Amino acid sequence: MRYPSRKANNQVLFNSNPASYIQKAIVDYVETSPLNCMMAFENKPFFGEPVIAFADGDSTVFQDFKKTVSESHLLPREILEKQIPIPFRRRPGFEIKHVSVISGALPINPEIIQSEANSKYGCTLIHNYMGWRGGHWGFLKNVCDYVEVLLYILGQHATTPFFSPLFRSEPQKMADNCRKTVSNWSERHIAEACGLGTFGLNGMIITEKGVAVNLFSIVCDVELPPTPKPTQQNCLYYRNGSCGKCMERCQNSAISHEGRNPRKCHEYATKNLPEILKKKGQLEGSDVFPSCGLCMTGVPCSDRIP
Ligand code: SF4
Ligand code: SF4
Repeated sequence: MRYPSRKANNQVLFNSNPASYIQKAIVDYVETSPLNCMMAFENKPFFGEPVIAFADGDSTVFQDFKKTVSESHLLPREILEKQIPIPFRRRPGFEIKHVSVISGALPINPEIIQSEANSKYGCTLIHNYMGWRGGHWGFLKNVCDYVEVLLYILGQHATTPFFSPLFRSEPQKMADNCRKTVSNWSERHIAEACGLGTFGLNGMIITEKGVAVNLFSIVCDVELPPTPKPTQQNCLYYRNGSCGKCMERCQNSAISHEGRNPRKCHEYATKNLPEILKKKGQLEGSDVFPSCGLCMTGVPCSDRIP
């Protein structure tokens, strides 16, 4: 018995419109994958339909990150070239022409948002579970792996910087302003550069599906049309000086009119919050770090552009 090729039809669809093929592939994967599943919470999905945006990886905006974000911030072309496996790079005629960045946001299940919105201190069980099983080392990684492998099958090259050995996050060098990052690949800045949204006062990206999302990005050698940038500030505070609800929600005064202070935010998640939860008997010694979602829930920008 011979199995038919799974590639031919996909290759035709991909060649006819790579951008819409990739967009649909990611949306379909999130919607239909059995891995998008909270086993401990009645098998409900972690995430809803994702928002996707693209940017030209050679755009000067990424070079500017070395000045505006951090000197060590990697360029998309640089990381892609270094991450393509050697056998692919040694193939005759190998050359990377176009470099594009795919930025995506996975909107968090509204039930998780509501549970965190109702919480005084943050880190409800379901929110923490989502961070642990759905975040960078959970379903979000499945999404990135899927896109990478799919693009290789279609004859392209792709890498997910966050999972690259080149990725470096240096929490010990924590900055005092969220516009400065201590990682060499900032998902939030990448998302903004791709037109996925704009920064909120809480230091997160407000996408068309709000700030309660998990961000990811993939660099590839597919030529993709850049997504138009938002024409307004999505945050009410930056648009007209109103709102500021995220400042009220934060229990450690980590958000001020100057934005979010990552040092204070980190202190709450790693010191104050574990102490509060231990006193309440909600955190065992072996539990993973609690994750605070107060400033992304119970605020007007949680699941939309206000
Ligand atoms: S809560 Fe208000 S001020 Fe804070 S990020 Fe959202 S829109 Fe901006
Ligand atoms: S994540 Fe929590 S601690 Fe950090 S700024 Fe938001 S509300 Fe404050």
